[in-house]
Formats: sequence, C-alpha cells, structure tokens
Amino acid sequence: MEDRLARIRGGGPPRRHNARTIAALTGNPGCTRRAVLDSAGADKPALAERLGFPARFGQSRFAITRGNAFEAQVKADGGKELLRLVAERLGVPVPEGATWTDLGADDDRPERSRAALTASGNGPALFDHPLLGLDVAGTRVHLEPDLVAARLAGRFHVVEIKSFPVIDGQADPGKVAAAAIQSAVYVLALRELLAAEGHDPELVSHEVVLVCPRDFANQPVASLLDVRRQLLVLRRQLARMARVEDLLAAVPAGFTVDPAADPATLAAALHEVPARYAPDCLAACELAYFCRHEARGQTGALGRPVREALGGVEEVADVLALAEGSAAPEPGQAEAAALLRAAARLRADALAGQTA
Ligand code: SF4
Repeated sequence: MEDRLARIRGGGPPRRHNARTIAALTGNPGCTRRAVLDSAGADKPALAERLGFPARFGQSRFAITRGNAFEAQVKADGGKELLRLVAERLGVPVPEGATWTDLGADDDRPERSRAALTASGNGPALFDHPLLGLDVAGTRVHLEPDLVAARLAGRFHVVEIKSFPVIDGQADPGKVAAAAIQSAVYVLALRELLAAEGHDPELVSHEVVLVCPRDFANQPVASLLDVRRQLLVLRRQLARMARVEDLLAAVPAGFTVDPAADPATLAAALHEVPARYAPDCLAACELAYFCRHEARGQTGALGRPVREALGGVEEVADVLALAEGSAAPEPGQAEAAALLRAAARLRADALAGQTA
C-alpha cells in the first residue's frame, strides 16, 4: 500500500497535513479524487500549478500581521483578559489563581504537552501552543496550533483567536464555518490525547470559544461554537481515509500524478478519478480551478443546491433543452422537467412584461 501511495504522488515525500488541511478534508467528503490525493500525500498546490490552474487562496501578509497583533493583545498579561472573556462566555465565575502554561517554546514539546494536559488536578488553567496529533491516512500528523486550551470547572474548552471582526453581533458566516471545522480538529486531537492516557475524552467540550475583535475596534469579544456536527463529518472523513484500500479500488491500477509529468498527461490521469466539483471547492481545495474547468457545462458546477434541485439532470445543455421542451425527460426527470418548463414560461412572461 505504501508503494502504491508513493507511486501515486510521483515518488516524492508525502505532503504534511496541518489543522487547516485536515479541516479542508471535510469540505467535499464525497470527492474520491481529493480523498485519494490527500491519502497519498500528493502535492496538490504543485499539481495545480503544473496543470496551469494555480490555487488562489491564503491570507495576505497584512491579514497575517493583523491577526498576530490581535492574538498577542488577547493573550497578554498571562491570559488574564482571555480568562475573563472565556469564563464570562461559559457562564462560570472568573476563577482566581488560574495558571498559564506556554507549551510552545520547548524542545520536548510533545511530551510536555501530553504531561501538562493529562496531569491530574482540575484547577483553572490555560495552556498556550499545545502540540497535538491525529492519524491521517495511517500517518501521524502533528498539529502546532496557536491555540489555547482552557480548563475551567473541570472541563477543557478549545479557544480559537481569530482576527475577522464581529460587526453588530454578526461575523462572516464562511469564516465562522472555517473556524468551527478547524476547532473541531483540535477538539478531536485533544480528546484522543486524553483517551490515550486513560481519561474521559468527553472532558473536552464540544463547545469552542471563538474570540474575535468587536466591530471595527480591537476590543475582543467571545462567542460559543457548537462543533458536534463538524466532529461527526471529520471522524467520518478520517475513517474513510484510513480505509485507503477501499478508496483505491475506484482508481486505475497505474494511476500517478507526478508533478514533474507534462500537464496533458497529468490532466488525463486526473480525469480518470471521479471528482465532485462544487463552488465550495474554491475556498478549500488547491485543485479547484482545474476541477471547475473540467466541470464546465455540468449542473454540479453551479453548486449543490442547484444540483439537488435539478435532481438527476447532469448537463446544463439538457436542462435548457428540458426547459424549452425540445427534449423529452428521461425516466425520473419528469418532475424536474415540469418545474423547468414552468420556470422558463415565468421567465418569458417576465421578459415580455418588461418590453411591453
Ligand atoms: S477541487 Fe476537485 S479534487 Fe478538490 S474537492 Fe473539489 S472536486 Fe475534489
């Protein structure tokens, strides 16, 4: 299996995961192409570049600097303000005598993180930069989060500090969703760490505390995110990747995506492994522009709601033909065809009304 995975990625070392890439695994769990490439540790950014469809996401340098400054502000003074924010949001009294442990600047970080987080005693404590780990497709992945684990009233809460603003009580839903799934990665890793040491994993709460700047000031505000749904999706996708033999059953025997191969060969190889492009891929997968190009003319490229509303009609050309009445619906397409014809009539009436 190792040999086959190495052949798939072109013989180079597997690309390492981090919390962002693990979180992104859940973005399109139905996509076999992505699951296979991620299981093999293929270098998807290099592939996308080679194919002529480079990935275009990531934070600007300005956003990274602003984020670091906000995080330093929130964590200042031994996390005093952070502790107050977290305690108030959880509805517990702000505890006296909480400890602050920075686990980041140590050579023996994995062991120190394990010892600190699983030590007996349940006094109030904040742990900064703990080193956590998860198994992804049979490989141990170390997560080095800029994260605080808060132990309050005997339970751990993952605390995520993000620099996107909460304006009038609302934050960008896409950014909150990304923070929720990334936090779920940490919750899962922290639970596994406790379980491995014989503790109850449920001591890690599914409620994550998200700290963001309020309005346009740098005043921090804390909110609670329930990540139970994200944990389910994450577990399911990690289990799917752990059964890599099943995944590879859908892949041609000689499939390989060596980033050094010529672009036409690479594209032909990728076309052989089923993908499931949706607009969400643009924010989560490095191959998105390649897959979007490949999916041109398919209803799925317009998004899952459209794909589902058109139940079973795969091609945009077929949708138009059904709407115009120039094609007869296949079995199972009658309802979609009737809706499309009605929509086409309404559109024609509306346009006629505009010109009348
Ligand atoms: S961009 Fe392509 S490979 Fe990536 S998840 Fe979407 S469909 Fe799958």
